[in-house]
Amino acid sequence: MAEMIPLHPRDETVRNEPFVAGSCKLHPQTMCPAFGALRVLTRIEGAQPAMITDTGCLYGLTFVSHFYASRKSIIAPQLGTAELSSGQVQEAANAAIMAASEEQNVSVIPVISLCVAETAGLSEELLPTEIDGKPVVLVRVPAYAIHSHPEAKDIALAAVMRRFVERPEQPEPGTLALLGEVFPADPLLIDGVLRRMGGRVLTTLPGRHVDELKLAGHASAVASLHPFYRETIGVLREQGVGVVSGAPIGVAGSAAWIRAVGAALDLDEDTVEQVAQQEQTAAEGFLATQPLKGATILVSGYEGNEMLYARLLIEGGAHVPYISTSIGPSMLTAADEAWLKAHGTEAVIYRKAIEDDKAAMDHWTFDLVIGTTTLAAHAKELGIPSVYYTNILSVRPLFLTGGMIASLSFVRDLLDRRPVYERMVDFSRMIG
Ligand code: SF4
Repeated sequence: MAEMIPLHPRDETVRNEPFVAGSCKLHPQTMCPAFGALRVLTRIEGAQPAMITDTGCLYGLTFVSHFYASRKSIIAPQLGTAELSSGQVQEAANAAIMAASEEQNVSVIPVISLCVAETAGLSEELLPTEIDGKPVVLVRVPAYAIHSHPEAKDIALAAVMRRFVERPEQPEPGTLALLGEVFPADPLLIDGVLRRMGGRVLTTLPGRHVDELKLAGHASAVASLHPFYRETIGVLREQGVGVVSGAPIGVAGSAAWIRAVGAALDLDEDTVEQVAQQEQTAAEGFLATQPLKGATILVSGYEGNEMLYARLLIEGGAHVPYISTSIGPSMLTAADEAWLKAHGTEAVIYRKAIEDDKAAMDHWTFDLVIGTTTLAAHAKELGIPSVYYTNILSVRPLFLTGGMIASLSFVRDLLDRRPVYERMVDFSRMIG
């Protein structure tokens, strides 16, 4: 008699097999990565981007930048087939840079070079480095080289920092620069903890003003709260700024981070230890109830900080077997990945695609999906509570005990909404 092969993907027999990611990693499914660079650059006061690309890219990127409130025009040359085939990329780029320099209140001109300009051979040597005293900074972010928008943020920030950051002879003692686009309350929470130890936050990057970027060079150390600022860290390290990796996340992460910052800033050891233990006790008090116990949660995003959320969920009692992100692996992601795998995570997928996420949904049974819009829609069709990672989770505090309570309480609330999602599916079936 033939052996019965279970067909239902959620059959236990199938789930006992290790998860296998099957998508092609050469073509990441993300919005044009250059968006990340534009997001950082358009937010800097006085920066007037000139974007060197063709009209198709310009349309899409202008749309998405304004959707995320860039509040300034993006200057670009007219680059269509005629201009490209007649070899006028350089002239068109220089004309756009000149036009950018003539805008009101411009103090710096980032030149964003994208796929078309790079392929057509835009030459850095033939671009101006300054116009009327206004620095011109080239930012190369073609999608074939920079695969995700978080990594494009890093390239853009590093390019501007390279131009402006200078280390003074006497850096400011006890000060920390934070690196990461975080919820506005997070730097305040971190500053509060640092002040209890005799230190303080000097600036948070990516900043809103060139002066904030310059300040980072004056700090005793920089803390990379998100694990994709490799270039920016390199720029600051070259200037002699100490680096603290990891983030103050959850019980174990926060205490270890506080101690690492204390050592990097050369703060009083006893005071640092006292603060680390106070944070640990407060966090453990909240976690004693294990608010997410019994829940299996999928985390998928393209922000680059997904592993931090997953750590928090696991400390809250959840099982998080699968995490995917658009960024690539690096030394900055290694510690979080190791921690997650030691705490029950079976698959950490870098440069993910929707096919990976959907395969994971077939492989495990989830109580909550925190994912991209496409994945969240797929989960809703199945009656599983689901939210869009970027707009729903990334807009809440995350760090230290305060951030942990805010994030985990919200996730608990989402888990409780399952009956609503199931009613939605029943209703759709009834009318369909
Ligand atoms: S061609 Fe390149 S720069 Fe243009 S939209 Fe596509 S990925 Fe972005």
